[in-house]
Amino acid sequence: MDCLFCAIIAGDIPSRQVYADDAAVAFLDISPWHAGHTLVVPRRHVADVLSQPEALSEIAPAINATSRLLTQRLGADGLNVLINSGATSGQEVFHLHAHLIPRYADRPGMAALMEREADIDLDAVHRRILGQA
Ligand code: AMP
Ligand code: ZN
Repeated sequence: MDCLFCAIIAGDIPSRQVYADDAAVAFLDISPWHAGHTLVVPRRHVADVLSQPEALSEIAPAINATSRLLTQRLGADGLNVLINSGATSGQEVFHLHAHLIPRYADRPGMAALMEREADIDLDAVHRRILGQA
């Protein structure tokens, strides 16, 4: 099967991983809306949450752990958890993923959610999340 996130999970395509457990992997979104924008994906291929809703409980511990890691290490003031399901919703990669989007007090509110922060240094953010900076 030709799936981008399966390839990332297999290590065939590089990613900036921030968390992993038996059921899920979390890595930085390559095109973040806000610093620390992360995707949590089930290790098994699940197309979307509408077709296999039980997958949500499988990745829930990873969503919880990664949310805490991101907010603590990056000093975020809040966090959006977003799951697109189906092309109409905006889903573009058809391997289930939860977007975890840390939010900062200088750019609050839903309207600012998808206003991309400029010039996010992914490697620097990754080091901060891993506690290396
Ligand atoms: P969605 O629109 O919910 O399907 O979101 C797909 C997300 O995957 C987008 O936010 C993309 O920026 C992200 N993305 C695409 N390719 C990669 C990649 N190679 N590594 C990390 N994130 C990616
Ligand atoms: Zn997949």
